[in-house]
Amino acid sequence: MKFKRVIFILGMAFLVFFLPVVQVFSQKKPDKISLFQKVVESRLRKNYNTGLSKICPINKDAVARRIFSEYGAVFLAEDNVMLPNKCIFEDETQVQLFQMKVASKSESFGDVLIQLQEPAMNALLEAQKEAAGKNLQISPRGGSIAAKRSYQNTLTLWNSRFYPALDYWMIKGKISPEEVSDARNLPINEQVAQVLEWEKDGLYFSAGFTKSILFSVAAPGASQHIFMLALDVEQFSNLEVRKILAKHGWFQTVKSDFPHFTYLGVEEKDLFGLGLKPFLINGYKFWLTDFEFQSKKSDDS
Ligand SMILES: [Zn+2]
Repeated sequence: MKFKRVIFILGMAFLVFFLPVVQVFSQKKPDKISLFQKVVESRLRKNYNTGLSKICPINKDAVARRIFSEYGAVFLAEDNVMLPNKCIFEDETQVQLFQMKVASKSESFGDVLIQLQEPAMNALLEAQKEAAGKNLQISPRGGSIAAKRSYQNTLTLWNSRFYPALDYWMIKGKISPEEVSDARNLPINEQVAQVLEWEKDGLYFSAGFTKSILFSVAAPGASQHIFMLALDVEQFSNLEVRKILAKHGWFQTVKSDFPHFTYLGVEEKDLFGLGLKPFLINGYKFWLTDFEFQSKKSDDS
């Protein structure tokens, strides 16, 4: 009798005291919000009085989530810059409406005329001056689209990778002719999503089919060049040139896109505090977001 009572009391004690504790520990932990996302959220509140979900719906749209992770560093640009009001522009009209509002500046580098947001251009000219003092040059790579690009420019670049890769993987027998035909006819946003799905299986769409298409070509409408805050630099392999650019607020923020620099206009020592982390890739320093696009989707807020 006594033994049964002890068991009963212990059982009740477990239900009352320990079960809630077990439940608390077994609950799913909420998704951790990265420092980068927090900083961007607060900047967008300040600049546009709206949240990230309106400008880049990372919780509803897998492509937006990926774009935010790969190119989102641009949302950290200094206060004098006009931040993008969308992470993916859907057409030329949206791009032009944004670009018209930007305070921009054009300059000739040799016979190439390029256009950037004004603070970005001013910093570039300062960097160029400093480089010239050391007998170095900083010049655009690939003509005038080294800086500002239109929606059409980004679409043309996308297609230059997308179509050859479709053919390549079809010939390899990895994608069927029917899938190729379907993919060609998809609306652009679904095409991008499909490419990113194939890349999960190792079917890469970069020029050499060895890495993600996003490491050299942006999804149409999503390029930092559209935001007029990016420059492809001819002398990108020169360490001294990269140091000078970094000193003037130009950093490499798109993984493995070696000639591509992003204007942030902040000091390098402050990048950690904004949620960027340095990575060395082939000896080049990239500052990448700490945002994990792979993490599970959750309900949008
Ligand atoms: Zn670029």
